Amino acid sequence: MLYRQFPKIEGQDVSALGLGCMRLPTIGGDPGAIDQAAFEAMLLAAAEAGITYLDSAYVYHKGLSEGAIGAALDRTGLRGRFTLATKSPVWLAKDSGDWDRFLDEQLKRLRSDHIDFYLLHALGAERWDLVRRLGALEALQKAKADGRIRHIGFSFHDSLGAFKTIIDGFPDWEFCQVQFNYVDTAYQAGEEGIAYAAERGIGVVVMEPLRGGALADPPQAVRDLFAGYPTPRTGAEWALRFALDRQEVVTTLSGMGTVEQVLHNAAVASSGRPNALTSREREILGEARGIYLSRLRVPCTTCGYCMPCPSGVDIPGVFAQANGASMFDTLPGTSAWYMTSFVKGGSGADQCVRCGQCLPKCPQHIEIPDRLEESHRYLAGA
Ligand code: SF4
Ligand code: SF4
Repeated sequence: MLYRQFPKIEGQDVSALGLGCMRLPTIGGDPGAIDQAAFEAMLLAAAEAGITYLDSAYVYHKGLSEGAIGAALDRTGLRGRFTLATKSPVWLAKDSGDWDRFLDEQLKRLRSDHIDFYLLHALGAERWDLVRRLGALEALQKAKADGRIRHIGFSFHDSLGAFKTIIDGFPDWEFCQVQFNYVDTAYQAGEEGIAYAAERGIGVVVMEPLRGGALADPPQAVRDLFAGYPTPRTGAEWALRFALDRQEVVTTLSGMGTVEQVLHNAAVASSGRPNALTSREREILGEARGIYLSRLRVPCTTCGYCMPCPSGVDIPGVFAQANGASMFDTLPGTSAWYMTSFVKGGSGADQCVRCGQCLPKCPQHIEIPDRLEESHRYLAGA
């Protein structure tokens, strides 16, 4: 395994590959039924392979991921081998006392007196307002001062502009966690955001390097492209090498669910040095990205300039769902997510009243109301 350091955190190297604990082995495919024995086997394999970073969240596995980690570390005696990262469920906070309540509950679940890397979960422009209004930043500073957490960061899902605002809005950030892979180089924070954070000494943790596993199972055209490379490599290996290549990236998380995946990914990370990709490898990954992007339904860059919509439509969010489903062949799952999260939540394309306010704001000149209607038909399966 190779190890890297967060710029602002001295004396604590972490493994270049981290174990994301949101897709742990389960019984019968139920996220609320973690297969504890299989998870412990994974944890032992991870420790053996030199992985030192575990990433969880209050809500993963229907709220059971942290408890499974706590129990597994207790039983295996491996707490000292890992740094623990977990996230506060920002959207559940109702008042300023909730931050301490969440954290204390998480410490109990994890059976630990401290959390090494503590994040505000899935920040974006709206949640950034919420965390400041409810005193989350002050609560984190206090928790760091009294030793319950060691380092303060945030994970992120919104536009690049919102990312920069959040980075610049709090001097005590030590790290951030962003989605990044060889397809999503200009999505959300993207390459520009990663560089922006690193220039300010904020270490970057990458999530979704395999795009929820989709890049491990590429379409035929991408498989053919990869097959032309002299050394046989899995889709997962290509994707991991891309993330590991960025020198700003301290650790790359992978939501692994089997011992085999741990061993495979750890072997890749053991030779994934920063700036190691050759120009031929970069070319191949660029071509693969082009193949994925040719499957886009709407040329939306998710810049967010069209927002806010007075009718509450999450315009970039809807287009990102439609594009993701089309690029990665994930329509059934994405459709279910769209109906639950967007349509029921009132931010679906069905809320568009065609007022036209968003149209002049789109630098891509997308006919937003028409494309929303199409996207809704596609996602809703109508
Ligand atoms: S046209 Fe539709 S999406 Fe655009 S601002 Fe109006 S209601 Fe919102
Ligand atoms: S629809 Fe246009 S303005 Fe809105 S997020 Fe997409 S590219 Fe940006």
